[in-house]
Amino acid sequence: MTTRLYENTVFLEHITPPGHPERPDRLRSLNLALEHPNFTALKRIEAKVANEDAVLLAHPESHLFGVMRQIPEEEGEINQLEADTYASSKSLQAALTAIGGAMAAVDDVFTGVADNVFVASRPPGHHAEKDKAMGFCFFNTIAIAARHAQKVHGAERVAIVDWDVHHGNGTQDIFWDDPSVLFCSTHQMPLYPGTGAKDETGVHNNIVNAPLSPNVGSDHFREAFKSRVLSAVKDFSPDLILISAGFDAHHRDPLAQINLVGDDFDWATARLMELADRSAGNRVVSLLEGGYDLEGLAESAGLHILRLMKG
Ligand SMILES: [Zn+2]
Repeated sequence: MTTRLYENTVFLEHITPPGHPERPDRLRSLNLALEHPNFTALKRIEAKVANEDAVLLAHPESHLFGVMRQIPEEEGEINQLEADTYASSKSLQAALTAIGGAMAAVDDVFTGVADNVFVASRPPGHHAEKDKAMGFCFFNTIAIAARHAQKVHGAERVAIVDWDVHHGNGTQDIFWDDPSVLFCSTHQMPLYPGTGAKDETGVHNNIVNAPLSPNVGSDHFREAFKSRVLSAVKDFSPDLILISAGFDAHHRDPLAQINLVGDDFDWATARLMELADRSAGNRVVSLLEGGYDLEGLAESAGLHILRLMKG
């Protein structure tokens, strides 16, 4: 497999208040893991900033302008957008560069320069609803990537698989009434943001939620992933698989109580790659979402990327 990874130092310049779990050290710990010789063949590329118009693929203009208005001008200043969502002077540039990386990743898998791509970006995106920044997220990067695949590359069916331990309420909100996008999520419930019950199925049965009870581990996760997520993706026969890759279901993570190990992310990646091989020409694009224990994140994301490289 040819695997690319998009990164940019601006992702380290989105600053949150002291003690906030969504912090630049997350990417530093992943970068340390990527120094291992296992990753020598990984093609690491600098993500370019997207035009602000890209945001409009998934959000109204009012949301874009609303976020822009709340970005502080002074370096060192931090603004609170919402309960737990903060912006520093470089946050808009970081969020737009995350979008730029995701769109380039989609371009790469459709033009064939890469089989699959991981975007090591922050802030994350899956909690951002059509007109609401929340849960550390400003814009829904993965929704924008899906729309970009449809608009520019003619993708008819895009599957988004979200294994972040929190429900991807924003992605569900954006695609609730869109039969061209399948959204499947495994997540702990109850937990923030409170959505993601099994009976939330979307207007066209294009939403598949597989909630997990607190304190379960690999067996429950794999069973739910197989019976709910993989079967839905297989039936949907997507042209592209996008992954909202959060690693906060790892047992070390401080924000949730699911007990996955690194190997579970390797396993889930391999299963999705098998499905991508069947219908999507191997096209897999994975975006970093959550993951707040530095060791758990580096281990899990490392194994995920290694599996993308190995096939
Ligand atoms: Zn999360």
